[in-house]
Amino acid sequence: QRCLALIKSTKFLNAYITVVEETALKQAEESEKRYRTGQPLGVLDGIPVAVKDNFSTAGIETTCASEMLKGYIPPYSATVVQKLLDQGAVLLGKTNLDEFAMGSGSTDGVFGPVRNPWSYSRQYKEKLVPKSHPEDEDSNWVITGGSSGGSAAAVSSFTCFAALGSDTGGSTRNPAAHCGVVGLKPTYGLISRHGLIPLVNSMDVPGILTRCVDDAAVVLGSLAGHDPKDSTTVQDSFKPFELPNLTDVSKLSIGIPKEYHAPGLSSEILALWSKAADLFKNAGANVIEVSLPHTRYSIVCYHVLCTAEVASNMARFDGLEYGHRSDMNKSTESMYAATRREGFNDVVRGRILSGNYFLLKQNYENYFVKAQKVRRLIANDFMKVFRSGVDILLTPTTLSDAVPYTEFIKEDNRTRSAQDDILTQAVNMAGLPAISVPTALSERGLPVGLQFIGRSFQEKQLLTVAKWFE
Ligand code: GLN
Repeated sequence: QRCLALIKSTKFLNAYITVVEETALKQAEESEKRYRTGQPLGVLDGIPVAVKDNFSTAGIETTCASEMLKGYIPPYSATVVQKLLDQGAVLLGKTNLDEFAMGSGSTDGVFGPVRNPWSYSRQYKEKLVPKSHPEDEDSNWVITGGSSGGSAAAVSSFTCFAALGSDTGGSTRNPAAHCGVVGLKPTYGLISRHGLIPLVNSMDVPGILTRCVDDAAVVLGSLAGHDPKDSTTVQDSFKPFELPNLTDVSKLSIGIPKEYHAPGLSSEILALWSKAADLFKNAGANVIEVSLPHTRYSIVCYHVLCTAEVASNMARFDGLEYGHRSDMNKSTESMYAATRREGFNDVVRGRILSGNYFLLKQNYENYFVKAQKVRRLIANDFMKVFRSGVDILLTPTTLSDAVPYTEFIKEDNRTRSAQDDILTQAVNMAGLPAISVPTALSERGLPVGLQFIGRSFQEKQLLTVAKWFE
């Protein structure tokens, strides 16, 4: 009830697209009854959670923040959503995002931009008074980052304890950093993507946003594992773990990739990054500079692979099976075209066009195949560093703290996501696990996150180190 009340009083953040008050209260009551009558409890029993609106939820509208899917009610739930419910979690609602998770600001969905709760915090130097509606004019509120900005804002504003996001190029870690919460991108293949509406199938993973690293471990434990409905999940059984309190980091080797001193990295973030490295050094860890030379190609390479997969994935939205269907129906062809013109925003349409261009018979070898090869080189860079004995990489998550909305929308979306994803994207190419953990506040009083990157399927080690740092 408290969470639901808080969702109402923070409506101006625009974090939620759908709130399922009645079912949430019913779930909470059932959970309480289980508790009172001494029945066995799930690890998430009674815990209020939220889910990004690109995960299918049976009986609950699932929009991807797109005109195309407004009103679409899936007949089944994503495996991860079902697993949350099976563990007793109370689902409060579906959170806002960039349309089809394409973006890094949570500013591009049809339901309007998400506001960063920190814009209204006492610490923010330009602290704002909340306006009653997201569309109201004011200037200095800062973005949440994205595309899982609704989930990050939901956790950050205490309306829920954990939220699901998705991460294809940084969409869980980026908003986590900007909103001062923990954001975990698990190893590709550890958690089922069944029911996650795809962006780039070969890179998408469900992400976990929580208030602290321990909570992320608990949620991970309830989601991970093989799913017969997702052939890319690994067969090995996953054992949920509790995180130890690490006292000795002297056996750890922490790598600082020099290429992550990226153009545009703010001096403030650089200083916090060095401070974190010093913290490990002073505690006895072996902190060394490492090189990931192909990092600089990751954004261009991502653009080709992402748009190619988008072109293919978006073909299913033809006005027949799902959501929106145009009235312009003189012929089947014109109905398809009009539906897609009306249903998708510029970003989505642009990516479909680029992707089809890269996949043309005469371009395929030069773009798509080449990008696949570059992707391998990017992944190999990480493998080499880990094989040389480095346990964990430490980098910033974002180039700066969150920028005001008015500033963010001045630039064209492509330039923006190219800049914003530079520190998070390569990890998705390699399928590795990574976590963003809040560190100090910036001078403007906004949260800054640092990123730890681990070896494939070594979530326990990754989270243990992140917890030590936290
Ligand atoms: N910003 C990237 C994009 O727009 C990544 C988004 C994501 O991780 N979902 O594609």
